[in-house]
Amino acid sequence: MSDEFDQEKIELVMALRKQGISDKNVLAALERVPRETFINTSFRRQAYEDHALPIECGQTISQPFIVAYMTEKLEVGDRMKALEVGTGSGYQAAVLSRLCRRVYTVERYRTLLRDAVRRFEALHLHNITSKVADGNEGWPEQAPFDRIIVTAAASDVPQKLVEQLKIGGIMVLPVAVPGSRGVQNLVRIIRTEEGVIREDLMPVRFVPLVAGVARES
Ligand code: SAH
Repeated sequence: MSDEFDQEKIELVMALRKQGISDKNVLAALERVPRETFINTSFRRQAYEDHALPIECGQTISQPFIVAYMTEKLEVGDRMKALEVGTGSGYQAAVLSRLCRRVYTVERYRTLLRDAVRRFEALHLHNITSKVADGNEGWPEQAPFDRIIVTAAASDVPQKLVEQLKIGGIMVLPVAVPGSRGVQNLVRIIRTEEGVIREDLMPVRFVPLVAGVARES
C-alpha cells in the first residue's frame, strides 16, 4: 500500500481524538484500514477528510468520526462475533474486523457487496463473512451476536435484530425521529434478561434501511 495518505491519516486520527474518541484500539483500527481503498477513484483525494462520500447505488460511506464513534460505543472485544447491517463500501466492516473475532455483514445491493468483498480480499481480511439479504432479518443461522451495528436508518428498533443479540449484547443503530425528516437519533441498545436498555446518543444522518433485497439491472 502506498504512503501517499500517511500524513493525512495521522491528522485525521488526531482530529478524531480531539473530538473525543479515546479508545486506543478503535483509533488504531482506523489507522490500519486504508479508507482510500473503499472510495471511488474520483473521490480518492478526499479519503481522509472527515465527511461522508457517495458510493455506488446512491449510497454513502459514513464519515470517519461516525464510524469511530459507533465502533467505540459498541465496545467490541477480540473474542466477539459481530453483525453489521448495511455493508455499503465495506469500510465499517473492515474496521470491525480488526477488533473482533468474526464479522458478518449483510447488504441489499449485490453490486456493492461484490465490490466490498473484493476489497476484503485485497486487504487479506479473512474474518468477514457476507451475504446479499435484507438486513431487517438479521442473520438467524449465525445468531446470537455479541454486537450488532446497523449503518442505515431504521424507522424503529428492529425486533428481529434485538432477538439475535446475546443477553448483555450491544447494538448501535440510527433510528428515525418522527416528524424530523432526514435526521435520526443514534441509539444504543443493551439487551438484558428483562428487556432492553435504550440510550439516545446523538443526531445523525444515514441513508434509510430499506425492506427487501434490491432489484438491480
Ligand atoms: N457501513 C457502510 C455504510 C453503508 S450506507 C460503509 O462503511 O460504507 C448503508 C447501506 O445499507 C447501503 O449500502 C444500503 O444499501 C444498505 N441497506 C439499506 N437497507 C438495507 C437492508 N434492509 N438490508 C441490508 N442492507 C441495507
